[in-house]
Amino acid sequence: MIRLEGVHKHFGHLHVLKDINLQVASGEKVVVIGPSGSGKSTLIRCINLLEKPSHGRVVVDGVEITAHKAQVQKVRQSVGMVFQQFNLYPHKTVLENLTLAPVLIQKVPQKEAEETGMAYLERVGMKEKANAYPSQLSGGQQQRVAIARALNMHPKIMLFDEPTSALDPEMIQEVLDVMTGLAHEGITMVVVTHEMGFARNVADRVIFMDEGVVLEEGSPEHFFNNPTQERTKQFLSRIL
Ligand code: ADP
Ligand code: MG
Repeated sequence: MIRLEGVHKHFGHLHVLKDINLQVASGEKVVVIGPSGSGKSTLIRCINLLEKPSHGRVVVDGVEITAHKAQVQKVRQSVGMVFQQFNLYPHKTVLENLTLAPVLIQKVPQKEAEETGMAYLERVGMKEKANAYPSQLSGGQQQRVAIARALNMHPKIMLFDEPTSALDPEMIQEVLDVMTGLAHEGITMVVVTHEMGFARNVADRVIFMDEGVVLEEGSPEHFFNNPTQERTKQFLSRIL
């Protein structure tokens, strides 16, 4: 579903991604961990071309999105993304947040977008808030709406970039629960997170990044019980 081949990213003199090679199978759940500044966000942003790699190829669902005339817009629609900051439109209601992109970009009829939107809101436990405004919601509620909004584009892939890092502790679990439910439904997921419980329970594979390279990867069992790299052990000892 996702393939990165020899991906490099430079920001000026800064070499942020160094020869990343990564494949994610359809339905696979990959958790990306690593210290701040190691390139995790840049990596997942390359999967929907929010960042353009300086070198290398990115293939998503069979389309090389780094190719010259790739239909980037179309591919991007099949990749949902959820950020640390929820980025809801503040002057739109919850339901309007969900219907805007499907109607404008995918030309879905308004009524259909509302129906599927309500179904996704129900799934994330936010149906009662369909007519509320983002400012009337808690952080955890806003993030659940952001997830429902991404889902209402019917993506094949969901990318999460530290979705619980901006939340108060008591709201983290409600968002992780929604993500865990989603994981069990077979969607392909790439999740940057410091929530090691989630990584243990949900990930098929854990990837540890450090200074722009994938330093270690493996199953959660391998990762948490027998990491081979000294840097991985250090990192885990600090956050577990
Ligand atoms: P992480 O998500 O692991 O914390 P990032 O991918 O956000 O790491 O950043 C990796 C490095 O790239 C950092 O040094 C960061 O400052 C730098 N960086 C990220 N985005 C930009 C940008 N748009 N312009 C310049 N430097 C950036
Ligand atoms: Mg980041």
